Amino acid sequence: MPQLSTSIDLDFDRHHIWHPYTSVTHPLPVYPVSRAEGVYLELEDGRRLIDGMSSWWAAIHGYNHPVLNEAVMTQLHKMSHVMFGGLTHEPAVRLAKELIAMTPEALQKVFFSDSGSVSVEVAIKMAFQYWQALGATQKNRLLTVRSGYHGDTFAAMSVCDPVTGMHSIFKGALQEHYFAEAPSCRFDEPCTEEDLADMQRKLEEHHSNIAAVILEPVVQGAGGMRFYSPHYLRRLRQLCDHYGVLLILDEIATGFGRTGKMFALEHAGIVPDIMCVGKALTGGYMTLAATLTTDRVAEVISGGNPGMFMHGPTFMANPLACAVASASIGLLQSYDWQASVQRIEARLLQGLLPCRSFSTVAELRVLGAIGVLELHKPVDMASVQRTLVEKGVWVRPFGRLIYLMPPFIMQDEELRLLCAAVCDVVETIR
Ligand SMILES: *Cc1c(COP(=O)(O)O)cnc(C)c1O
Repeated sequence: MPQLSTSIDLDFDRHHIWHPYTSVTHPLPVYPVSRAEGVYLELEDGRRLIDGMSSWWAAIHGYNHPVLNEAVMTQLHKMSHVMFGGLTHEPAVRLAKELIAMTPEALQKVFFSDSGSVSVEVAIKMAFQYWQALGATQKNRLLTVRSGYHGDTFAAMSVCDPVTGMHSIFKGALQEHYFAEAPSCRFDEPCTEEDLADMQRKLEEHHSNIAAVILEPVVQGAGGMRFYSPHYLRRLRQLCDHYGVLLILDEIATGFGRTGKMFALEHAGIVPDIMCVGKALTGGYMTLAATLTTDRVAEVISGGNPGMFMHGPTFMANPLACAVASASIGLLQSYDWQASVQRIEARLLQGLLPCRSFSTVAELRVLGAIGVLELHKPVDMASVQRTLVEKGVWVRPFGRLIYLMPPFIMQDEELRLLCAAVCDVVETIR
Protein backbone atom coordinates (compact mmCIF):
# COMPACT_ATOMS: atom_id res chain seq x y z
CA MET A 1 0.00 0.00 0.00
CA PRO A 2 1.55 3.37 -0.95
CA GLN A 3 2.09 5.59 2.07
CA LEU A 4 0.73 8.96 1.02
CA SER A 5 1.91 12.07 2.76
CA THR A 6 -0.25 13.31 5.60
CA SER A 7 -0.28 16.51 7.58
CA ILE A 8 -0.31 14.56 10.84
CA ASP A 9 2.99 13.84 12.55
CA LEU A 10 2.44 10.10 12.97
CA ASP A 11 5.95 9.66 14.23
CA PHE A 12 5.22 12.00 17.12
CA ASP A 13 1.99 10.12 17.80
CA ARG A 14 3.89 6.81 17.92
CA HIS A 15 6.45 8.11 20.34
CA HIS A 16 4.38 10.27 22.67
CA ILE A 17 0.68 9.46 22.70
CA TRP A 18 -1.09 6.64 24.42
CA HIS A 19 -4.07 5.22 22.54
CA PRO A 20 -6.64 3.00 24.31
CA TYR A 21 -5.07 -0.18 25.65
CA THR A 22 -1.72 0.17 23.91
CA SER A 23 1.96 0.01 24.60
CA VAL A 24 4.14 3.04 23.90
CA THR A 25 7.13 0.89 23.10
CA HIS A 26 5.26 -1.45 20.73
CA PRO A 27 2.41 0.72 19.50
CA LEU A 28 -0.19 -0.65 17.11
CA PRO A 29 -0.80 1.24 13.88
CA VAL A 30 -3.25 4.15 14.02
CA TYR A 31 -5.04 5.61 11.02
CA PRO A 32 -5.18 9.40 10.73
CA VAL A 33 -8.72 10.69 10.17
CA SER A 34 -9.17 14.13 8.64
CA ARG A 35 -12.94 14.37 8.71
CA ALA A 36 -16.07 12.32 9.05
CA GLU A 37 -19.44 12.70 7.39
CA GLY A 38 -22.55 10.54 7.51
CA VAL A 39 -21.40 6.93 7.84
CA TYR A 40 -17.93 7.63 6.41
CA LEU A 41 -14.59 8.28 8.06
CA GLU A 42 -12.20 10.07 5.73
CA LEU A 43 -8.50 9.31 6.17
CA GLU A 44 -5.76 11.88 5.59
CA ASP A 45 -4.76 10.11 2.37
CA GLY A 46 -8.28 10.59 1.01
CA ARG A 47 -9.59 7.06 1.50
CA ARG A 48 -13.17 6.83 2.77
CA LEU A 49 -14.13 4.06 5.18
CA ILE A 50 -17.65 2.87 5.99
CA ASP A 51 -17.89 3.12 9.75
CA GLY A 52 -19.04 -0.14 11.32
CA MET A 53 -18.35 0.96 14.91
CA SER A 54 -20.28 4.20 15.48
CA SER A 55 -17.14 5.24 17.37
CA TRP A 56 -17.82 2.68 20.11
CA TRP A 57 -21.66 2.74 20.16
CA ALA A 58 -21.89 6.52 20.23
CA ALA A 59 -22.39 8.06 16.76
CA ILE A 60 -25.91 6.73 16.17
CA HIS A 61 -26.81 9.51 13.70
CA GLY A 62 -23.50 9.34 11.83
CA TYR A 63 -20.96 12.16 11.74
CA ASN A 64 -21.14 15.85 10.99
CA HIS A 65 -24.91 15.92 11.28
CA PRO A 66 -26.36 19.36 10.46
CA VAL A 67 -28.88 19.28 13.32
CA LEU A 68 -26.27 18.31 15.91
CA ASN A 69 -23.73 20.77 14.50
CA GLU A 70 -26.33 23.50 14.79
CA ALA A 71 -27.10 22.62 18.41
CA VAL A 72 -23.41 22.90 19.33
CA MET A 73 -22.96 26.18 17.44
CA THR A 74 -26.05 27.79 18.96
CA GLN A 75 -25.00 26.83 22.47
CA LEU A 76 -21.38 27.82 21.82
CA HIS A 77 -22.45 31.40 21.15
CA LYS A 78 -24.25 31.52 24.52
CA MET A 79 -21.71 29.75 26.73
CA SER A 80 -19.59 26.64 26.37
CA HIS A 81 -19.32 25.94 30.06
CA VAL A 82 -20.12 27.24 33.51
CA MET A 83 -19.68 25.50 36.83
CA PHE A 84 -22.75 23.58 38.03
CA GLY A 85 -22.18 24.32 41.70
CA GLY A 86 -24.69 27.02 42.60
CA LEU A 87 -25.58 27.66 38.94
CA THR A 88 -27.94 25.98 36.54
CA HIS A 89 -28.85 26.40 32.88
CA GLU A 90 -31.48 25.62 30.32
CA PRO A 91 -29.60 22.83 28.43
CA ALA A 92 -29.21 20.81 31.66
CA VAL A 93 -32.82 21.30 32.74
CA ARG A 94 -34.15 20.44 29.31
CA LEU A 95 -32.01 17.31 29.03
CA ALA A 96 -32.94 16.11 32.53
CA LYS A 97 -36.64 16.53 31.66
CA GLU A 98 -36.14 14.51 28.49
CA LEU A 99 -34.24 11.72 30.26
CA ILE A 100 -36.87 11.48 32.98
CA ALA A 101 -39.64 11.38 30.38
CA MET A 102 -38.05 8.62 28.30
CA THR A 103 -36.91 6.28 31.11
CA PRO A 104 -39.14 4.33 33.57
CA GLU A 105 -41.38 6.66 35.52
CA ALA A 106 -39.89 5.77 38.90
CA LEU A 107 -36.55 7.29 37.85
CA GLN A 108 -36.97 10.96 38.77
CA LYS A 109 -33.53 12.20 39.80
CA VAL A 110 -30.61 12.86 37.45
CA PHE A 111 -26.91 13.25 38.18
CA PHE A 112 -24.81 14.41 35.22
CA SER A 113 -21.18 13.42 34.84
CA ASP A 114 -18.56 13.47 32.16
CA SER A 115 -18.08 9.84 31.13
CA GLY A 116 -19.65 6.44 31.36
CA SER A 117 -17.12 5.20 33.89
CA VAL A 118 -17.82 8.14 36.16
CA SER A 119 -21.57 7.59 35.91
CA VAL A 120 -20.92 4.04 37.12
CA GLU A 121 -18.78 5.36 40.00
CA VAL A 122 -21.69 7.66 40.83
CA ALA A 123 -24.20 4.79 40.71
CA ILE A 124 -22.06 2.70 43.05
CA LYS A 125 -21.58 5.63 45.39
CA MET A 126 -25.35 6.21 45.44
CA ALA A 127 -25.94 2.58 46.41
CA PHE A 128 -23.34 2.73 49.20
CA GLN A 129 -24.59 6.06 50.53
CA TYR A 130 -28.16 4.75 50.48
CA TRP A 131 -27.40 1.83 52.79
CA GLN A 132 -25.07 3.97 54.89
CA ALA A 133 -27.94 6.42 55.46
CA LEU A 134 -30.19 3.55 56.51
CA GLY A 135 -27.60 2.42 59.05
CA ALA A 136 -26.78 -0.78 57.12
CA THR A 137 -23.07 0.04 56.93
CA GLN A 138 -22.13 -3.61 56.36
CA LYS A 139 -23.82 -3.44 52.93
CA ASN A 140 -20.68 -2.23 51.17
CA ARG A 141 -20.14 -4.90 48.53
CA LEU A 142 -21.56 -5.34 45.03
CA LEU A 143 -22.75 -8.40 43.19
CA THR A 144 -22.42 -8.65 39.43
CA VAL A 145 -22.18 -11.24 36.68
CA ARG A 146 -19.10 -12.46 34.85
CA SER A 147 -18.31 -11.13 31.34
CA GLY A 148 -19.51 -7.65 32.27
CA TYR A 149 -17.90 -4.34 31.38
CA HIS A 150 -18.58 -1.12 33.27
CA GLY A 151 -15.59 1.14 32.57
CA ASP A 152 -11.95 1.68 33.38
CA THR A 153 -11.94 3.70 36.61
CA PHE A 154 -11.39 1.78 39.83
CA ALA A 155 -14.89 1.11 41.14
CA ALA A 156 -16.16 0.46 37.61
CA MET A 157 -13.21 -1.84 36.91
CA SER A 158 -13.88 -3.77 40.13
CA VAL A 159 -17.18 -5.02 38.64
CA CYS A 160 -15.79 -5.79 35.17
CA ASP A 161 -15.16 -9.44 34.36
CA PRO A 162 -12.28 -10.47 36.67
CA VAL A 163 -10.39 -12.23 33.85
CA THR A 164 -10.79 -9.87 30.86
CA GLY A 165 -10.76 -6.95 33.31
CA MET A 166 -7.34 -8.12 34.51
CA HIS A 167 -8.18 -7.92 38.18
CA SER A 168 -4.98 -9.80 39.00
CA ILE A 169 -2.85 -6.79 37.99
CA PHE A 170 -4.61 -4.54 40.49
CA LYS A 171 -5.06 -7.06 43.28
CA GLY A 172 -5.03 -5.26 46.61
CA ALA A 173 -5.99 -1.94 45.06
CA LEU A 174 -9.38 -3.10 43.81
CA GLN A 175 -12.31 -3.68 46.10
CA GLU A 176 -13.37 -7.33 45.94
CA HIS A 177 -16.97 -7.99 44.97
CA TYR A 178 -19.15 -11.04 44.35
CA PHE A 179 -19.44 -12.55 40.88
CA ALA A 180 -22.21 -14.82 39.68
CA GLU A 181 -22.06 -16.84 36.48
CA ALA A 182 -22.84 -14.80 33.36
CA PRO A 183 -26.46 -15.21 32.23
CA SER A 184 -26.53 -18.22 29.91
CA CYS A 185 -30.14 -18.21 28.71
CA ARG A 186 -30.35 -16.95 25.14
CA PHE A 187 -32.12 -13.73 24.18
CA ASP A 188 -35.12 -15.46 22.64
CA GLU A 189 -35.52 -18.13 25.31
CA PRO A 190 -36.84 -18.10 28.87
CA CYS A 191 -34.40 -18.88 31.67
CA THR A 192 -34.63 -21.92 33.87
CA GLU A 193 -34.17 -21.79 37.63
CA GLU A 194 -30.77 -23.38 36.97
CA ASP A 195 -29.76 -20.32 34.91
CA LEU A 196 -30.37 -18.12 37.95
CA ALA A 197 -29.19 -20.59 40.58
CA ASP A 198 -25.72 -19.12 41.07
CA MET A 199 -27.10 -15.55 41.28
CA GLN A 200 -29.70 -16.67 43.80
CA ARG A 201 -27.11 -18.58 45.85
CA LYS A 202 -24.81 -15.53 46.03
CA LEU A 203 -27.72 -13.32 47.11
CA GLU A 204 -28.86 -15.87 49.68
CA GLU A 205 -25.38 -16.17 51.18
CA HIS A 206 -24.20 -12.58 51.00
CA HIS A 207 -27.20 -10.24 50.79
CA SER A 208 -26.48 -8.75 54.20
CA ASN A 209 -23.20 -7.38 52.73
CA ILE A 210 -24.51 -6.49 49.28
CA ALA A 211 -25.55 -2.94 48.46
CA ALA A 212 -26.51 -3.55 44.85
CA VAL A 213 -26.44 -5.87 41.89
CA ILE A 214 -24.97 -4.14 38.85
CA LEU A 215 -25.13 -5.43 35.28
CA GLU A 216 -25.71 -4.51 31.65
CA PRO A 217 -29.28 -5.32 30.59
CA VAL A 218 -29.72 -7.86 27.74
CA VAL A 219 -26.39 -7.14 26.00
CA GLN A 220 -23.04 -7.59 27.70
CA GLY A 221 -20.86 -5.31 25.59
CA ALA A 222 -17.08 -4.99 25.81
CA GLY A 223 -16.91 -8.00 28.18
CA GLY A 224 -17.86 -10.41 25.40
CA MET A 225 -20.71 -9.07 23.22
CA ARG A 226 -23.13 -11.61 24.70
CA PHE A 227 -26.92 -11.34 24.47
CA TYR A 228 -29.14 -12.88 27.13
CA SER A 229 -32.78 -13.34 27.97
CA PRO A 230 -34.87 -10.44 29.30
CA HIS A 231 -36.48 -13.11 31.47
CA TYR A 232 -33.24 -13.21 33.46
CA LEU A 233 -33.73 -9.54 34.33
CA ARG A 234 -37.33 -10.02 35.45
CA ARG A 235 -36.27 -12.81 37.80
CA LEU A 236 -33.28 -10.79 38.99
CA ARG A 237 -35.53 -7.83 39.82
CA GLN A 238 -37.67 -10.16 41.97
CA LEU A 239 -34.60 -11.58 43.67
CA CYS A 240 -33.20 -8.12 44.43
CA ASP A 241 -36.52 -7.10 46.00
CA HIS A 242 -36.70 -10.34 47.97
CA TYR A 243 -33.19 -9.98 49.38
CA GLY A 244 -33.25 -6.22 49.92
CA VAL A 245 -30.59 -5.31 47.38
CA LEU A 246 -30.65 -2.38 44.92
CA LEU A 247 -30.51 -3.03 41.19
CA ILE A 248 -28.22 -0.90 38.99
CA LEU A 249 -28.63 -1.22 35.23
CA ASP A 250 -25.75 0.01 33.09
CA GLU A 251 -27.37 1.16 29.81
CA ILE A 252 -24.27 3.03 28.63
CA ALA A 253 -23.82 0.77 25.59
CA THR A 254 -27.42 -0.39 25.10
CA GLY A 255 -29.24 2.91 25.55
CA PHE A 256 -30.80 5.06 22.82
CA GLY A 257 -32.12 2.38 20.50
CA ARG A 258 -29.17 0.10 19.84
CA THR A 259 -30.93 -3.16 20.83
CA GLY A 260 -34.21 -2.30 19.10
CA LYS A 261 -35.78 -0.69 22.19
CA MET A 262 -34.99 2.84 23.38
CA PHE A 263 -33.46 1.21 26.48
CA ALA A 264 -32.67 -2.49 26.78
CA LEU A 265 -34.57 -2.71 30.08
CA GLU A 266 -37.76 -2.29 28.01
CA HIS A 267 -37.26 -5.83 26.66
CA ALA A 268 -37.86 -6.98 30.24
CA GLY A 269 -40.26 -4.28 31.39
CA ILE A 270 -38.39 -3.82 34.66
CA VAL A 271 -37.48 -0.72 36.64
CA PRO A 272 -34.01 -0.45 38.18
CA ASP A 273 -33.23 1.58 41.29
CA ILE A 274 -30.33 3.25 39.51
CA MET A 275 -29.53 3.51 35.80
CA CYS A 276 -26.49 4.77 33.89
CA VAL A 277 -26.53 6.26 30.40
CA GLY A 278 -23.65 7.59 28.30
CA LYS A 279 -22.05 6.87 24.92
CA ALA A 280 -24.90 7.59 22.42
CA LEU A 281 -26.42 10.15 24.80
CA THR A 282 -24.83 13.00 22.81
CA GLY A 283 -25.03 11.19 19.46
CA GLY A 284 -21.28 10.70 19.83
CA TYR A 285 -20.48 14.42 19.76
CA MET A 286 -19.12 15.04 23.23
CA THR A 287 -18.44 13.20 26.41
CA LEU A 288 -21.43 13.19 28.77
CA ALA A 289 -23.14 10.62 30.96
CA ALA A 290 -25.93 10.56 33.50
CA THR A 291 -26.97 8.45 36.46
CA LEU A 292 -30.70 8.34 37.17
CA THR A 293 -32.32 7.13 40.34
CA THR A 294 -35.62 6.98 42.19
CA ASP A 295 -37.06 9.51 44.64
CA ARG A 296 -36.67 6.83 47.31
CA VAL A 297 -32.91 6.38 46.84
CA ALA A 298 -32.33 10.12 46.49
CA GLU A 299 -34.38 10.98 49.57
CA VAL A 300 -32.73 8.34 51.75
CA ILE A 301 -29.28 9.60 50.71
CA SER A 302 -30.30 13.17 51.44
CA GLY A 303 -31.68 12.16 54.85
CA GLY A 304 -28.44 10.48 55.94
CA ASN A 305 -25.15 11.86 57.09
CA PRO A 306 -23.78 14.24 55.69
CA GLY A 307 -27.17 15.00 54.17
CA MET A 308 -25.99 15.30 50.60
CA PHE A 309 -24.75 13.18 47.73
CA MET A 310 -20.96 13.33 47.77
CA HIS A 311 -19.99 13.94 44.15
CA GLY A 312 -19.51 16.95 41.88
CA PRO A 313 -17.27 16.90 38.80
CA THR A 314 -15.78 20.13 37.44
CA PHE A 315 -17.41 19.74 34.05
CA MET A 316 -20.73 18.49 35.44
CA ALA A 317 -23.66 19.08 33.03
CA ASN A 318 -21.46 20.80 30.45
CA PRO A 319 -23.87 23.02 28.46
CA LEU A 320 -22.45 22.17 25.04
CA ALA A 321 -22.77 18.46 25.79
CA CYS A 322 -26.28 18.83 27.25
CA ALA A 323 -27.41 20.88 24.25
CA VAL A 324 -26.15 18.36 21.73
CA ALA A 325 -27.62 15.49 23.80
CA SER A 326 -31.06 17.13 23.64
CA ALA A 327 -30.65 17.60 19.90
CA SER A 328 -29.63 13.96 19.50
CA ILE A 329 -32.64 12.72 21.48
CA GLY A 330 -34.88 15.04 19.45
CA LEU A 331 -33.41 13.67 16.24
CA LEU A 332 -33.98 10.09 17.38
CA GLN A 333 -37.60 10.88 18.24
CA SER A 334 -38.16 12.69 14.95
CA TYR A 335 -38.13 9.60 12.74
CA ASP A 336 -39.02 5.92 12.89
CA TRP A 337 -35.72 4.76 14.36
CA GLN A 338 -37.22 1.38 15.31
CA ALA A 339 -37.77 0.68 11.63
CA SER A 340 -34.14 1.64 10.90
CA VAL A 341 -32.78 -0.60 13.62
CA GLN A 342 -34.99 -3.49 12.46
CA ARG A 343 -33.82 -2.99 8.90
CA ILE A 344 -30.18 -2.98 10.04
CA GLU A 345 -30.82 -6.14 12.08
CA ALA A 346 -32.18 -7.91 9.00
CA ARG A 347 -29.30 -6.68 6.79
CA LEU A 348 -26.62 -7.65 9.30
CA LEU A 349 -28.09 -11.12 9.58
CA GLN A 350 -28.35 -11.46 5.83
CA GLY A 351 -24.88 -10.00 5.20
CA LEU A 352 -23.04 -12.02 7.84
CA LEU A 353 -24.84 -15.32 7.28
CA PRO A 354 -22.45 -16.42 4.50
CA CYS A 355 -19.50 -16.43 6.91
CA ARG A 356 -21.25 -18.41 9.64
CA SER A 357 -20.29 -21.65 7.90
CA PHE A 358 -16.53 -20.89 7.93
CA SER A 359 -14.71 -23.36 10.16
CA THR A 360 -13.11 -20.49 12.11
CA VAL A 361 -16.51 -19.06 13.11
CA ALA A 362 -18.06 -20.34 16.34
CA GLU A 363 -21.24 -18.25 16.33
CA LEU A 364 -23.08 -15.45 14.56
CA ARG A 365 -25.47 -13.38 16.65
CA VAL A 366 -27.46 -10.31 15.74
CA LEU A 367 -29.70 -8.16 17.90
CA GLY A 368 -30.96 -4.74 16.88
CA ALA A 369 -28.14 -2.80 15.26
CA ILE A 370 -25.47 -5.14 16.67
CA GLY A 371 -23.89 -7.99 14.70
CA VAL A 372 -21.29 -10.27 16.27
CA LEU A 373 -19.09 -12.96 14.79
CA GLU A 374 -17.45 -15.00 17.51
CA LEU A 375 -14.46 -16.96 16.25
CA HIS A 376 -12.88 -20.03 17.79
CA LYS A 377 -9.52 -18.29 18.20
CA PRO A 378 -8.43 -14.71 18.92
CA VAL A 379 -7.79 -12.65 15.79
CA ASP A 380 -4.67 -10.62 15.07
CA MET A 381 -6.33 -7.24 15.46
CA ALA A 382 -3.71 -5.16 13.66
CA SER A 383 -3.60 -7.34 10.59
CA VAL A 384 -7.37 -7.86 10.37
CA GLN A 385 -7.90 -4.15 10.80
CA ARG A 386 -5.39 -3.32 8.07
CA THR A 387 -7.10 -5.67 5.63
CA LEU A 388 -10.50 -4.21 6.49
CA VAL A 389 -9.21 -0.68 5.94
CA GLU A 390 -7.88 -1.78 2.54
CA LYS A 391 -11.40 -3.00 1.77
CA GLY A 392 -12.84 0.37 2.76
CA VAL A 393 -14.46 -0.37 6.11
CA TRP A 394 -13.75 0.59 9.70
CA VAL A 395 -14.19 -2.28 12.15
CA ARG A 396 -12.13 -2.96 15.25
CA PRO A 397 -12.13 -6.57 16.42
CA PHE A 398 -11.12 -7.62 19.90
CA GLY A 399 -10.15 -11.04 21.13
CA ARG A 400 -12.25 -13.66 19.35
CA LEU A 401 -14.88 -11.11 18.33
CA ILE A 402 -15.49 -9.23 15.13
CA TYR A 403 -18.54 -7.07 15.67
CA LEU A 404 -20.52 -4.39 13.88
CA MET A 405 -22.67 -1.64 15.34
CA PRO A 406 -23.28 0.81 12.52
CA PRO A 407 -24.89 4.24 12.79
CA PHE A 408 -28.68 3.94 12.48
CA ILE A 409 -28.63 5.98 9.26
CA MET A 410 -26.58 3.41 7.35
CA GLN A 411 -28.25 2.43 4.08
CA ASP A 412 -28.64 -1.08 2.71
CA GLU A 413 -25.87 -0.79 0.14
CA GLU A 414 -23.33 0.35 2.73
CA LEU A 415 -24.44 -2.42 5.09
CA ARG A 416 -23.96 -4.91 2.30
CA LEU A 417 -20.42 -3.65 1.57
CA LEU A 418 -19.57 -3.64 5.28
CA CYS A 419 -20.72 -7.23 5.85
CA ALA A 420 -19.13 -8.44 2.60
CA ALA A 421 -15.77 -6.94 3.61
CA VAL A 422 -15.96 -8.62 7.00
CA CYS A 423 -16.86 -12.00 5.48
CA ASP A 424 -14.03 -11.67 2.94
CA VAL A 425 -11.55 -11.10 5.72
CA VAL A 426 -12.92 -13.81 8.00
CA GLU A 427 -12.63 -16.26 5.11
CA THR A 428 -8.88 -15.69 4.94
CA ILE A 429 -8.34 -16.23 8.67
CA ARG A 430 -6.80 -19.60 9.45
C1 LIG B 1 -18.22 2.11 27.50
C2 LIG B 1 -18.94 1.60 28.69
C3 LIG B 1 -18.69 2.14 29.98
C4 LIG B 1 -17.64 3.18 30.22
O1 LIG B 1 -17.90 4.38 29.57
P1 LIG B 1 -16.68 5.42 29.29
O2 LIG B 1 -17.38 6.59 28.68
O3 LIG B 1 -15.74 4.73 28.36
O4 LIG B 1 -16.07 5.73 30.60
C5 LIG B 1 -19.42 1.65 31.03
N1 LIG B 1 -20.35 0.69 30.85
C6 LIG B 1 -20.63 0.15 29.65
C7 LIG B 1 -21.68 -0.89 29.52
C8 LIG B 1 -19.91 0.58 28.53
O5 LIG B 1 -20.15 0.03 27.33
